[in-house]
Amino acid sequence: MSFRNAVIMVVFALGLIVGLILSNTGVSVISPVVAQSGEEIVSPVKARQRDTYYPNSEDLAPDEMRVIACGTGMPTTRAAQAAACFLVELGNGDKFLFDIGSGSAERISSLQIPYNYLDKVFVGHLHTDHFGALHDLFIGGALMGRNVPLRIWGPSGATPELGTAYALDHMQKMLTWDMAGRAGNVDFRGYRMDVTEFDFRTDNEVVYEDNGVTIRAFPAIHAIDGSVSYALEWNGLKFVFSSDTYPNNWFVEYAKDADLVIHECFITVADLVNKMKFTPESALSVGTQVHTAPQAFGKVMSAIQPRMAVAYHFFNDFDTRFAIYDGIRETYDGPLSLAEDFMVWNVTRDDIRVRLA
Ligand SMILES: [Zn+2]
Ligand SMILES: [Zn+2]
Repeated sequence: MSFRNAVIMVVFALGLIVGLILSNTGVSVISPVVAQSGEEIVSPVKARQRDTYYPNSEDLAPDEMRVIACGTGMPTTRAAQAAACFLVELGNGDKFLFDIGSGSAERISSLQIPYNYLDKVFVGHLHTDHFGALHDLFIGGALMGRNVPLRIWGPSGATPELGTAYALDHMQKMLTWDMAGRAGNVDFRGYRMDVTEFDFRTDNEVVYEDNGVTIRAFPAIHAIDGSVSYALEWNGLKFVFSSDTYPNNWFVEYAKDADLVIHECFITVADLVNKMKFTPESALSVGTQVHTAPQAFGKVMSAIQPRMAVAYHFFNDFDTRFAIYDGIRETYDGPLSLAEDFMVWNVTRDDIRVRLA
């Protein structure tokens, strides 16, 4: 062994001994991690604020609202995106589902919230990408312990058979064999729907009021009569959800002063043609008249100026999202989330925190 190598070994051994002595006396031999703020982080595994939301790992503060995207995509559901569904949780313990589009039930179940708390659903309109998972929540929720009726609010239509009550009456008829096959084998108290149909021409009228929570509905312009948007107010916080709509003045007026505003923003006309094989004529009509194009979404949000604008109802992929973003930024430069499934917004009066679950 050379003299140089011997010196290195002695220094290394001394370092080891000093380290052992220090660690036995409780003095850390690892330099403390210091955050940019100068605050020392004592342990890298101790509880602290995370950039990811882990379901069931955080209490909601009494004055806090948490919104979780359980579906943000298109009628063609995919592993990455179910169709429209947003869960609103309030610090008073109340929970509300706004739309329950195809594929969203598995997002809801993965949050592991007891189903008795998921008994209130507000449907904006009766396209399957907005209520296509209702029967999954109805049956699956009852099977997993919901022992109260599933309560559903939704608009009327131009005729009775275009309304929510008709659709859900027939949904239950569709489930005749399913329910007959379960009766007698399981607790049957949860296998009931409690449906409240209100006039789709409602002009910001209250459709729900309880426990300090007020939910109002107002008309949306979408496809045919019988589409609405919702606004929820609680504890000085306001959440607004468009469901599907062409940009309209009701929304701009009734979403004023809102904290979190979720409005549809449709996939671009070019991508409707290229990816979804629409004809150019129907892409132009569906992408700009039946729905809200990105530039129009931006105009709506510039008029409202919410604390956070949320765009949903497009494939949020590497090759589609930038056209959406660029379109919105032509007309709006405020706070913006391009929604994807399991995006989470924690809303208080001081802050809106956006993470993924
Ligand atoms: Zn629709
Ligand atoms: Zn839709």
